[in-house]
Amino acid sequence: MNKKYDSIETKLIRAGEMSPRIMGSVSMPVFQSSTYEYGGEEGYDAIRYIRLNNTPNHLVLNDKLAELENAEAAIVTSSGMAAISTSLLSVLKKGDHLLAQNSLYGGTFDFITKDLNDLGIEFDLIDADEPDTWGKKLRSNTKAIYVESITNPLMMVSDLKSVVEFAEKHNLVSLIDNTFTSPVLFRAAEFGFDISLHSCTKYMNGHNDIVAGAAIGKEKYIKKIVHKLGHLGGTLDPHTCFLLHRGLKTLALRMRYQCESALKIAEFLKTVSTVKKVNYPGLASDKYHSRAKEYFSGFSGMMSFELEGGVEKALRFINNLSIPVYAPSLGGVESLIVIPFKTSHAGLTAEELSNQGISEGLIRFSVGIESTSDLIDDLKTAFDSL
Ligand SMILES: *Cc1c(COP(=O)(O)O)cnc(C)c1O
Repeated sequence: MNKKYDSIETKLIRAGEMSPRIMGSVSMPVFQSSTYEYGGEEGYDAIRYIRLNNTPNHLVLNDKLAELENAEAAIVTSSGMAAISTSLLSVLKKGDHLLAQNSLYGGTFDFITKDLNDLGIEFDLIDADEPDTWGKKLRSNTKAIYVESITNPLMMVSDLKSVVEFAEKHNLVSLIDNTFTSPVLFRAAEFGFDISLHSCTKYMNGHNDIVAGAAIGKEKYIKKIVHKLGHLGGTLDPHTCFLLHRGLKTLALRMRYQCESALKIAEFLKTVSTVKKVNYPGLASDKYHSRAKEYFSGFSGMMSFELEGGVEKALRFINNLSIPVYAPSLGGVESLIVIPFKTSHAGLTAEELSNQGISEGLIRFSVGIESTSDLIDDLKTAFDSL
């Protein structure tokens, strides 16, 4: 039995690790075997097979991820979207109704608003900042409520406490996408959410080199997700498990540095005259600062800002930069910069974009682990040559 540790830094290294170590191996070896000798397992889900996400590389990760959020259970998946879609399909069936936050990750928003209807699952969008308006949207067939910890790309922090209370009161399954905060800043399962979802592609792995996901939470829901995942096939392969496992070990260090660096960069952006607005909950002047401070132990390395001059000016600015790469995705060691209108939110209609308050010239910045002063110098040069 592994000893339990309180601090997340130690959990990232020690939690869930094999004991005794396999032939003394300090890092978890890759078990490159699709199938395993039958050992008396009962039931289909227990047969050891890569697709069933239960080989040694999966088991170690699942235990570690559960402990990171002080949750009962966890399951790794082949991508964040695999975790999100499989979880929603595990808690919702034909004839059910879902309440979903009106501003969500593009892929999730598309899945909920376009794919679920085809399966006979209904939804209503809610303003996650206005708990008084949720009751009106509740129906007798409402089964779940879905929100994000910090929204993309406007960095909104919703009234998460009310979401948990509302779900408990009305017997709904509460789901949250905790990608932007990671378990280092926010333990959503411990906070009271039934299912905490992650794109491990982002902060969890942190190196812009794999795609992976996870669902963390109450055992009764994770069991259902595991079963559904076995059918839908959203498996993480053992080598990618190994890479995610390795990436996770430095999560706390990376996150702390990225939070510190992002705050200094957001403060700098506030001083730039061509920047109309900076969205970063770490700024004392930000609308969501006090709520973020109450829930989270940091404000992440993500921010967005609006330049005067629309999308052309935003593109020129990005082309003037030398350190951040103009690429989608986020949370890794390399700084990445993007125009959501052109990438992550390109699938949305003009009306959806305007409902969500996303302007064409909005720039989203994922702060990496490069030197803060080098990044600020780079931004300064790019602004000066506009
Ligand atoms: C990237 C992302 C996802 C999707 O994750 P993938 O690993 O790309 O499938 C979901 N939610 C958020 C908030 C994300 O940033």
